[in-house]
Amino acid sequence: MPFRHLFVLIALLAALTPLAGAQSGGSDAARTAARFEGMRAKPEALLAFLSDMPKGADLHDHADGAVYAEDMLAWAIADGACYTPATLALIEPCAGGDVPLAYGLGKDPNLSAEIVRALSMQTFASRTESGHDHFFNTFGKFGAVNARHPDRILAAATSDAARSRVQYLELMTAVDIGAARDAAKAVAVAHPFEPANFDADDAALDAAFAKIVPAAIAHARALEAERLAALRCASAQPDRGCLVMVRYIQSVIRVDDPASVFAQTRLAFALANDSRSGFVAINYVAPEDAPVAVRDYVLHMRIIAYFHKKYPRAAIALHAGELTPAFVKPAALADHIRQAIEVAGATRIGHGVDVLGERDAAGLLREMASKHVLVEIALTSNDQILNVRGKAHPLPAYLAAGVPVALVTDDAGVSRSDLTHEFLRATLTYGFTYPQLKTFARNSVAYGFLPRTEKAAMERELERAFTAFEHEQALLQ
Ligand SMILES: [Zn+2]
Repeated sequence: MPFRHLFVLIALLAALTPLAGAQSGGSDAARTAARFEGMRAKPEALLAFLSDMPKGADLHDHADGAVYAEDMLAWAIADGACYTPATLALIEPCAGGDVPLAYGLGKDPNLSAEIVRALSMQTFASRTESGHDHFFNTFGKFGAVNARHPDRILAAATSDAARSRVQYLELMTAVDIGAARDAAKAVAVAHPFEPANFDADDAALDAAFAKIVPAAIAHARALEAERLAALRCASAQPDRGCLVMVRYIQSVIRVDDPASVFAQTRLAFALANDSRSGFVAINYVAPEDAPVAVRDYVLHMRIIAYFHKKYPRAAIALHAGELTPAFVKPAALADHIRQAIEVAGATRIGHGVDVLGERDAAGLLREMASKHVLVEIALTSNDQILNVRGKAHPLPAYLAAGVPVALVTDDAGVSRSDLTHEFLRATLTYGFTYPQLKTFARNSVAYGFLPRTEKAAMERELERAFTAFEHEQALLQ
């Protein structure tokens, strides 16, 4: 009888429903949160917990800065590369005055460790060079190796993200920037850049860009195939990085001259507007406090707004407010974040450290909250580059204002950090609860630049991962 079947089914379901939560007075999530509270005074236990915790996405990760110096040094040795004794920069191909790595490492047992320190913030102590300068100078010291192995850089960044239980990664990289720079130079002869006439500047690039954009999309696709090959994703033993979904953000070098920035921005938008490229957004990189970046900031925001109208599918994330009064004059502190949002149309802000120094900071925070502009918080990077940490950091102010926040790595390799340690630092510094950390992780996926259906799948995956993680944690009690 159907009725009887139904009754049996209900009885069966009731028997199978886990009652553990009811018996212990809480769900797995509540018990996990309680377990987390019990670990506050035990950083080692906290680290193990946070290593296993699903973290969603890393939304602010420079591919070049993500890789550990040891990996780059190993590639350079295998390449037969050299180094410059005065700076410990890795050089490929070797030139006059450089020393072959194999020779130097054979003679000096400390050289390997010294190179790792030169190429990262490992044990950095400011003597003649500031943290800011040492950090940014590392990029020039490993740039030659990275340029030879872009596939390995992306693969290593992806694999490292997977180790931190990141399921979705937006990697900043730069495809064919040289072609955009060359095009800007070539047209400058007949058409000097006119800041007041973007239409003319844009038209002057048309002929060159008819070739540059399809080539850049092809290069981006080829590079992605090489990344997957480097991770052995089609093999029987794929790297853990194959589990991470990756999209790219094209970087524009903001310390170039205006014509170059204009051409680079056009390329970035064209790439991010085309779903075949794997790119979803644009960002501006290089020190925001550099004299050229400060001088041209308003122009840059206008350039971004101009191209966004032409390429509306490309999203905009911007480094803005990665500043303190120690690095720039007060005028530059007044409105970088506001301009990034109101002029350029950025929907995510990288760092935003000087927000409380902006004109009408309270109004700006309200605007970010109401417009759902997420701020990407990189605590270790801000400490190392800007010397801002603890109570001096605006993270609590963002949260109090209801601005969405995600924790990010910025340059994990250079910083000698990873997303797990960013979660640990946030917890130890600000006393966040487990539910707050879950909000950071959920935000990171919700504010990613994936199309709606893919994002929904990512969000479901994160919730499944939380459920499994919390069930394991509840069993450990
Ligand atoms: Zn950054």
